[in-house]
Amino acid sequence: MKILTVVGNRPQFIKAAAVSGLLRERHEEVLVHTGQHHDEELSRIFFTELGLARPDRELGIAGGSNVEQTARMLSALAPLAEELAPDAALVYGDTNSTLAGALAAALSEIALVHVEAGMRSFDRGMPEERNRVLTDHASTLLLCASETAAENLRGESVWGRVSVVGDVMVDVALRGAEAARANVEPLRARGLREREYVLLTAHRAGNVDDPGRLRALVELIAALQAPVVFPLHPRTRERLAQSGLREQLDAIPQLVVTEPLGYVEFSSLLHHARAVATDSGGVQKEAYLAGVRCVTLRATTEWVETVTAGWNTLVDLDAERARAAIDREPPASRPRLYGDGRAAERCVAEIEALTGVE
Ligand code: UDP
Repeated sequence: MKILTVVGNRPQFIKAAAVSGLLRERHEEVLVHTGQHHDEELSRIFFTELGLARPDRELGIAGGSNVEQTARMLSALAPLAEELAPDAALVYGDTNSTLAGALAAALSEIALVHVEAGMRSFDRGMPEERNRVLTDHASTLLLCASETAAENLRGESVWGRVSVVGDVMVDVALRGAEAARANVEPLRARGLREREYVLLTAHRAGNVDDPGRLRALVELIAALQAPVVFPLHPRTRERLAQSGLREQLDAIPQLVVTEPLGYVEFSSLLHHARAVATDSGGVQKEAYLAGVRCVTLRATTEWVETVTAGWNTLVDLDAERARAAIDREPPASRPRLYGDGRAAERCVAEIEALTGVE
């Protein structure tokens, strides 16, 4: 079978790395990179480190508003879908690239497969939530990371077939866990000691686009009273500069600001952290898998099971709650969530069943 895969940003390269290699063992895959994330730190390094095939097509579409960006991607993807006439199109997650790929497939009457379907924060103010819902309702095959996600989809009476396959990001995380645990060089290089620092990431529009919220984030970091390592996403870097808050951030003692890191370095810092503070979906999950407590800098999460299990606390941007959550002892048990590390195999089998091609 021929599959048209659309990727465009950092977590999608990681998810595609789990599936693409397996898919290519027996099928033809045309990998399209929209260009949403295009530089070395957010794009190229993930292809190299995780062995993802070079994109077959690069659209070079970045910047602009969500609407403009999605529209430009759709304009480029729709003729490509018609030209390639694949058996199915494959999209991941919840970005503009996901929605554009989904619309291009749906409008061209190509079967659409959504990996990480059914995730919901139930906050329609988030662009990611709107992208997820729209993509799910355009999908022919909805591959879910958890039973909760599948229930969400049944509740919405989606049209396509729903299947729980586990989380493909877990496949990648489990594969790299041992090496990450064994590698302390990224800590040492930054003067950090095991279990003494907080690894922090923040780039959601809801946290960094509003100067008031961004100030609250900077104040929260200052209040943590622990060494903090903060790989700065370009969006956050830009917003800090625009709002004049960069100086205030740089004045925080015990804060190590870095460029966005590659998967290997980031994963090693995560495994050895005392706690993780993040507004990222992927990082919440990875902290859970690594047995590191997580403080989520949002009021909602799609990864609700990590909260129920007691390893993740939603603190929004409340500095006091963040401090308390970081100091809290994590529970003794950590049940297996989101699969066994073989989700990608199930994804490929489901896609084969959908297209009727073995
Ligand atoms: N990540 C990384 N380097 C960093 C920050 C994150 O490799 O400096 C990885 C992280 O391990 C996770 C993914 O990027 O696998 C999460 O991406 P992001 O936070 O951009 O997206 P989200 O999960 O919020 O959609």
